[in-house]
Amino acid sequence: MKHHSHVKEDPALIAGLAEAHEGTAFFTELLDALSYTELDGPSLLPNWTRKHVIAHIAYNAFAIGRLLEWARTGVEHPMYETATARDHEIEAGATLSHNSLRSLFDRSGAELDSAWANMSATDWHKTVRTFQGREIHASETIWMRTKEVWVHAVDLDGGASFDDIPPAILSRLLTDIVAVWHSRGEGPGLLLRTVGAGETLEFGGGTAKDHSTAQAAVAETVVISGSLADLAAWAAGRYTVGITSSTDTVPEAPRWT
Ligand code: ZN
Repeated sequence: MKHHSHVKEDPALIAGLAEAHEGTAFFTELLDALSYTELDGPSLLPNWTRKHVIAHIAYNAFAIGRLLEWARTGVEHPMYETATARDHEIEAGATLSHNSLRSLFDRSGAELDSAWANMSATDWHKTVRTFQGREIHASETIWMRTKEVWVHAVDLDGGASFDDIPPAILSRLLTDIVAVWHSRGEGPGLLLRTVGAGETLEFGGGTAKDHSTAQAAVAETVVISGSLADLAAWAAGRYTVGITSSTDTVPEAPRWT
């Protein structure tokens, strides 16, 4: 028996896909507001024009589509063959004409949507591997894509900031980033704390108790404070506006990608 539209029965998948679609709409809206000339201009990422960012988002959709194909067929389809191949693809994409790049962007998004729509209830639970080598359930591709579209929309430098990203996404992003740091043994003493109205949220810190007391004694906690949006921007390595540190100067966040 063939199963269809199992997304409809799973509230977590429905909510996740809605966040991904909202992010894509946000990215597309910013993209639509940019002139052809502006597309050739710099993004917020070093050495990348806005066209590089758009090409990256398009090829990321195809790469995630390969993971879904892997989940559906059981035949391994890596996101990218190599890091060099991925980079070359982006470089080549950035040289496309504006119209070609735009249709690549639209087509990649539509293909990803239909690939998600064709996932059966069991497909979503299949294990695949990300380019970083992490084993995930196919359902996690939704969050992978969500992060990409929201964060890179800000990178388009089209007037959006992390303040435009929904708090639930910022919070999950911060949790993810801190987990990446800790998995690499980086930033063990960093404690990120929100300031301002509402509930105070904390990310990181507290890792000292996981280690020997000798290590805990040397591990000095550095408290990084800011709004949820500013903390996410800082942790993602984007900007340090609005951030204060318990140390004299605001340290650079460890890499997370
Ligand atoms: Zn990216």
